Amino acid sequence: MYTIPVITYHAIGEAASPLFTPPARFEATLAHLAAAGYRTVSLERVLGWLRAGAGFPAKTVVLAFDDGYQSVYGEAWPRLAAYGFTATVFLVTGFCGRDNRWPGQPAHAPRLPLLSWAEANKLANAGWELGAHTCTHPPLPLVDAARVEQEVMKSQAAIQARTGQAAAVFAYPYGARNAAVEAIVARHCAGAVSTDMGLVTAAGRPYRLARIDAYYWRPETIAAVGSAGFRGYLRLRDTLRKLRRCVYTDWQWSGSPSRPASGPAA
Ligand SMILES: [Zn+2]
Repeated sequence: MYTIPVITYHAIGEAASPLFTPPARFEATLAHLAAAGYRTVSLERVLGWLRAGAGFPAKTVVLAFDDGYQSVYGEAWPRLAAYGFTATVFLVTGFCGRDNRWPGQPAHAPRLPLLSWAEANKLANAGWELGAHTCTHPPLPLVDAARVEQEVMKSQAAIQARTGQAAAVFAYPYGARNAAVEAIVARHCAGAVSTDMGLVTAAGRPYRLARIDAYYWRPETIAAVGSAGFRGYLRLRDTLRKLRRCVYTDWQWSGSPSRPASGPAA
């Protein structure tokens, strides 16, 4: 039974921040995917296969970009286009055309420009999938249900109004979710991605799709993706990340300087 890796990126660039993937490493990942015969698909497509229950096709991958940084347009898009690849970008709709200084952003996080609506439209017209990532990027389990619903619905509506895409998929800010948040998202979206480390399998849950942060992805990883050893590696990384979040309880949400200097963003 085939599985699908969903690789999560943020920005592409050389800066020494876990938000960034260096262009050369990104390029090498694409080259390895292409050489191995992989094709990119949308998450909506993956959700369709998941619900049909007939398994996934071989050599399928999803590339996802959280937050909609402008380097997705300038650095990622041309490289993907050269291979005939497309990707999914999750937009924080209240901040499109601005930067990532949404409430709760740690002061030490780099200030980065975000895609404008014109750029998001160009990506959509090139076959990219646009997903909703709320309007203001709050940790959803910490806000009330009415606000959760507004964040989901308004971000979807903005994408629909500005680009014509339905924004069927959702990404939880910081990967933070609970049963109540999931239930609200399920009323409005076809599926949602988490920050749980893993591959999407036939047993995957549509509102908890596992992903692999680019921080843990090496260009040559694709050769090992179906192996038991790689699945064990992902389980280990997932456990370690969850343990670290227990230790650094507030680093994700409050902007506390206790956030580790390195490690993946969310
Ligand atoms: Zn985010």
